[in-house]
Amino acid sequence: MINKYKKIVIKIGSSSIVNPASKKINSKWMLKLCKDIKKHHKEKNIIIVCSGAIALGSPLIKHKKSLRKLEDKQAAASVGQIELAHQWRKYLKKHKINIAQVLITLEDSEVRRRYLNARKTINTLLQNKIIPVINENDTVATEEIRYGDNDRLAARVAQMIDADLLILLSDVNGLYDKNPNNNKDAKKINEIFKINKSIERMANSQTSSLGSGGMITKIMAAKICMNNGCDTIITNSEKTKPISSITKNNSSIFFAHKNPSSSRKQWLLNHLHPSGFIRIDEGAHKAIKNNKSLLPAGVTEVGGNFNSGDVISVYYLKKDKIAIGISAYDINEVKKIIGKKSKEIPNILGYEGRDEIIHKDDLVKIIK
Ligand code: GLU
Repeated sequence: MINKYKKIVIKIGSSSIVNPASKKINSKWMLKLCKDIKKHHKEKNIIIVCSGAIALGSPLIKHKKSLRKLEDKQAAASVGQIELAHQWRKYLKKHKINIAQVLITLEDSEVRRRYLNARKTINTLLQNKIIPVINENDTVATEEIRYGDNDRLAARVAQMIDADLLILLSDVNGLYDKNPNNNKDAKKINEIFKINKSIERMANSQTSSLGSGGMITKIMAAKICMNNGCDTIITNSEKTKPISSITKNNSSIFFAHKNPSSSRKQWLLNHLHPSGFIRIDEGAHKAIKNNKSLLPAGVTEVGGNFNSGDVISVYYLKKDKIAIGISAYDINEVKKIIGKKSKEIPNILGYEGRDEIIHKDDLVKIIK
């Protein structure tokens, strides 16, 4: 099934790569996966996003049952990441494949300059036929500014480098329409073309053992990819050829992508942590629907902490988030000009500014 794809991001969950009892690398599994990767390495670009640093490092950090505090997890990650990179090098070297370690923070995918920089580095590695092995830089990421799960990180990486397929290797067996533990008639869903509330509800009730993601972050990852011209497959990793043997069968779920928009708009749409928000009235809502810019006259409220150039969310009245965009002004300036006409801006701020708070080229509508 993967023959038609050219650039594939493979995300490996902690529960596949780390033996939950020994907290050591699952070497048998690594052997078969690397053998399978070798088959595709020549004709395709392969990028690996691999979890497991925290699980591998945890035996060296004192704790009771599981690591709860962020600093314990960060310390464990800094121990385990060395081991993780070492193991990848060891197993892929057997096939004469070179690897590179790339550690990414949330900001590397949210700040456009850093995003473009990370993209250049990863693409350069691929041009040199080196497989990037990516993880979150857990050691420095704080609670508010971390992904916390590699599912979404992998989706952002896929988007960043224009991958056409994201494979999430995991211990999950599929997505059921009801909880299979209490419902004998629960059915597996194998193909998804649209992620709606009911799919999210189903996913919410299913978790996996070692990693931090579970089903819901996998669905969120698929959603990011669907909007970016990239298909997603969630599949059980326990097969002899985890990649080559993927078919549209019972142990995998396939998410088909929708048409991609421009890369700048894709980047905006998938921004995970906007720095603030503005709320708009009906007139501004209509203007946005008609692809116009957002002017100060239609803004009723502003919140958060943002500078000019930061990404902010746009809400319609007390209801839904309807758009996301880049603010031309910082929050203090917006506070002064909300509800005002654009021609009043120079008088209020004391300098010539842009007529609009978010220009239409910097604005993406959220289509529900
Ligand atoms: N970055 C974490 C690690 O390497 C994994 C997060 C996750 O479970 O997805 O342990």
